Amino acid sequence: MHRPIEIELGKMSCRSWSQEGIYRLLLNVLHPDVAEKWQDLLVYGGTGKAARNVESLDTIIHALKNLKDDETLLIQSGKAVGVIQSHPEAARVLVTSSHLVPSHATWEEFRRLEGCGLTMYGQSTAASWAYIGMQGVLQGTCDTFGELADQHFNGSLKGKIVLSSGLGGMGSAQPLAVEMHGGVAIIVEVNPDKVIRRLRNSQVEVATDSLEKAWQLAREYADNGQPVSIALMGNAAEIYPQCLRENKLPDVVTDQTAAHDLLAGYIPASLSPGKAIELRLRDPERYLAMSLDSIARHGQAMLEFAQKGAIVFDYGNNIRGQAEKAGVKDIWSIPSFVNAFLRPVLSVGKGPIRWVALSGNPKDIYRLDKALLKRWPEEEHLARWIRFVQERVHFQGLPARGCWLNYTQRIALSEMISELVRNGELSGPIAVTRDHLDGGSVAAPHRETEGMLDGSDAIADWPILNALTNATCGADLVSLQHGGGVGIGESIHAGMTVIIDGTDSAERRGNRVLKADPSMGIIRHADAGYEGAIQASQRLGLRPWDDKR
Ligand code: NAD
Repeated sequence: MHRPIEIELGKMSCRSWSQEGIYRLLLNVLHPDVAEKWQDLLVYGGTGKAARNVESLDTIIHALKNLKDDETLLIQSGKAVGVIQSHPEAARVLVTSSHLVPSHATWEEFRRLEGCGLTMYGQSTAASWAYIGMQGVLQGTCDTFGELADQHFNGSLKGKIVLSSGLGGMGSAQPLAVEMHGGVAIIVEVNPDKVIRRLRNSQVEVATDSLEKAWQLAREYADNGQPVSIALMGNAAEIYPQCLRENKLPDVVTDQTAAHDLLAGYIPASLSPGKAIELRLRDPERYLAMSLDSIARHGQAMLEFAQKGAIVFDYGNNIRGQAEKAGVKDIWSIPSFVNAFLRPVLSVGKGPIRWVALSGNPKDIYRLDKALLKRWPEEEHLARWIRFVQERVHFQGLPARGCWLNYTQRIALSEMISELVRNGELSGPIAVTRDHLDGGSVAAPHRETEGMLDGSDAIADWPILNALTNATCGADLVSLQHGGGVGIGESIHAGMTVIIDGTDSAERRGNRVLKADPSMGIIRHADAGYEGAIQASQRLGLRPWDDKR
């Protein structure tokens, strides 16, 4: 693409708000402030794309503009493949991405088929057009570091140094999250352009290419109990071992390079980003060998940090799986972030919901912030979160808010939005959607479902049931995808979007979906034997037979 496609906010490009909302979300994930590389349709997470190619994007746009209120558009891995006659309360768009038959689900086979033009890597919210930029994972990142602080450091990261890597779409949430808990973040990033972009957006405060300087500054701030975030230009596979050699020992270590994809995401030591692009194309086998060699050093260093007393965790990029392939023994002694920190919350139906002002008017988001705070004045956590994002986060693309809400709050949110749109207190409809990392929406044995109580880590029925449930309840868009976060062969996950436009139909469907969707997280965890989930399911009548216990 030579120039980004702009959303014409003042006019309707589609027949109704359902199609129009989805159309605006599609263009939003490709907005230059949102997408990591809009020219190549790359949204985030390594090669997570919004459409298979420019021609496919044009066809999808054309199809959405012409889609009738009783039709459903089918998207197969970033390409429009058909329109079926459905009915007005059915999903308007159904998306599947990156699926392969299980015995064929390897990166090698995926790349072969991608090369034949038959598929596309959709990450989680890239292909489902629900990505809103860094804010979408910020609260999950804040809660992860918050829980870590509670478990290990008496509730605060004050005086602590966190070392991580990757300032990409997701990774750039890390510095803000660490600062929110009073800590010092050093984030290693190999691409200077990403560092400049994060500095410009105030997502990091300082940048340097010297470990010595970064460490000195970090120590100074930590010793004074002051938060700061430092981008350190370099390669994590070199910097982590160097820290160990020089006895620079952080309190917490993790990583958010795009390690799930060793060819098109991770950059091996000694290659600049430019050289990496060139070698990937010229000699992919050599590139992969270099990546594995670097991952071995990177993963081994993480293990050694843990042995020296740091709190070390895998932040959802499958670095442990890759390190195992590279020969690092004992790498699985490092826990995943969900298992270590987030499961208690996810298992009772609380999760990452987000809403987008389709009008483009930031005031709509602030009005909803106010409504939320008024509705739950006693929720200090929520108030602190809203204050923090209002102060520290710039909107990227369409104004949006990402927030972790529980079962009751999600239903109330849907009712609240419907009322405010209907009364004209918001300047336009709102799209409510969520991250794929939720209690019942994903199966990923090395991430969200690692170490399940009943051993059901690799059971992938749950996200499929989740998608079917949301389609049954009338979400405007339902997606079922493969390989997000951790890569091909490693995950199946589902997403949903409802467009709340003040009509009775949208209100009905919004209420149904925002009730059913978190129910899946509770049901999934109740089935696995989590006590909190069993109690929630009994309270909500989700598994009537549980009453007989
Ligand atoms: P991204 O591709 O936008 O960014 C990755 C960054 O890592 C890039 O800026 C790249 O230059 C940098 N990088 C690559 N190799 C490096 C190296 N060796 N040393 C230093 N920097 C290096 O990806 P993203 O959206 O930020 O996602 C990061 C990872 O997290 C991915 O693997 C993704 O699948 C996973 N992920 C995690 C979550 C979560 O909630 N924790 C959610 C979605 C995705």
